[in-house]
Amino acid sequence: MSSYDVAVIGSGPGGYVAAIRCAQLGMKTAIIEKYNTLGGTCLNVGCIPSKALLDSSHHYEDAMKHFEDHGIEIPGEIKLNFKKMIERKQAVVDQTTKGIEFLMGKNKIDVFTGIGAFKDATHIEITSGKKTETIEAKNTIIATGSKPASLPFIKIDKERIITSTEALSLSEVPKHLIVIGGGVIGLELGQVYRRLGSEVSIVEYMDRIIPTMDSAQSKELTKVMKKQGVKFFVSHKVSAVDRKKNEITVTATDKKDKEVTFTGDYCLVSVGRRPFTDGLKAENAGVKITERGMIEVNDHLQTNIKNIYAIGDVIRGAMLAHKAEEEGVMVAEILAGQKPHIDYNLIPGVVYTWPEVASVGKTEEQLKETNTEYKVGQFPMRALGRSRASGDTDGFVKILSDKTTDEVLGVHMVGARVADLIAEAVTAMEFRASAEDIARMSHAHPTYAEAVKEAALAATEDRALHI
Ligand code: FAD
Repeated sequence: MSSYDVAVIGSGPGGYVAAIRCAQLGMKTAIIEKYNTLGGTCLNVGCIPSKALLDSSHHYEDAMKHFEDHGIEIPGEIKLNFKKMIERKQAVVDQTTKGIEFLMGKNKIDVFTGIGAFKDATHIEITSGKKTETIEAKNTIIATGSKPASLPFIKIDKERIITSTEALSLSEVPKHLIVIGGGVIGLELGQVYRRLGSEVSIVEYMDRIIPTMDSAQSKELTKVMKKQGVKFFVSHKVSAVDRKKNEITVTATDKKDKEVTFTGDYCLVSVGRRPFTDGLKAENAGVKITERGMIEVNDHLQTNIKNIYAIGDVIRGAMLAHKAEEEGVMVAEILAGQKPHIDYNLIPGVVYTWPEVASVGKTEEQLKETNTEYKVGQFPMRALGRSRASGDTDGFVKILSDKTTDEVLGVHMVGARVADLIAEAVTAMEFRASAEDIARMSHAHPTYAEAVKEAALAATEDRALHI
């Protein structure tokens, strides 16, 4: 039987990063993945394929709607080859997952393909078809991730009533896509299909989309996506989803308790994700799982069993790839006797629609709830030369800083490339910068990043220069 210092169960961004860091720190490491490709949800059916389709559909929309503004005329009709778009997405996924295989080899990590199940706290049985082998591990990191959640009355048939996984590999563009849930995944995929010509209706239970982000961002994104033709139905509680042949009917009640029905040919259920531990046999090791299916961990990401840790979507906190990665590194370093730390307040959140939406730290709503006194500096993208040059004038950067100390408490953005710009805010906040610190740093001109400086100037003493 092979013996390891560490076995990692699950090869998503949490698991594979944990494995690499363990190997870097000199531990003999194994990784177990039930699918034939490595990379988990993120690389196979999450972050990467969704971004590939967002980028492809963005190019298509530009060609259809915006090239003309730039004086580019295409003789003849612009045609969508959807099959090719999906094939390209798959090629991007394949290349990326192969990259993880390469990294496992480079770091001398043993890869096992099969379902990993605990025999006891130090032995894991790996089953693939009829073949079973057992390995021994001094420590185990559970990184089994999550699966799409649904509502109890919805039967996901994976053909017309679908999750994000199927939405990334459809064989046709829906005529009318009804999206249940106005969170990140619903908005991103809704925008992809709107650009490709679908009618898209987003039905959301809460009174605004992206309800955990700053309300100014919800408002701006709603406004821009409405201009793009997406229809929003907030404060609508879905009560039934029925299919008759190729017709889907979604029934909901609005805030006045009036019944509303939506008829379409596809329904995307994007109401969140649930932690996944099926087949893990955690009970054999004595690992505690909460009623909601999450693995319980302490501040060191250790389960109730001292040599077993858990990271990523399967534990509490934001279900984000970069959060899982940080946790993977943290556990590896703890196992090596180091004292790493994650500031969960500084894990950024991003929506990759266009315009993009990005956030870090506290929202205005959260600061109000805790009676924190704060200042606001906001700068609109339309006032930037860079935005006018590219034609991306929607959005803003908003900086919230402490009223007394000027320390930056939250940064919230909507606009072109803000998914990248948020890194500046994270850096500033990691170093506990004040708004004035950012305001005094030189930002290249012309860039979208100038909006960060201007918002910081606005937060300092209302000193924005270009508005
Ligand atoms: P996962 O990536 O879910 O990986 C878990 C792995 O464990 C899987 O491969 C699974 O097969 C394997 N596994 C489970 N049980 C066993 C077992 N018993 N034995 C062996 N293997 C097992 N996040 C972002 O940060 N940015 C984005 O842009 C983004 N976009 C997304 C878009 C979509 C459509 C979706 C669905 C998700 C997106 N996410 C995004 C979320 C992101 O994918 C997850 O947060 C991330 O993948 C979590 O990583 P993880 O390592 O915890 O788990």
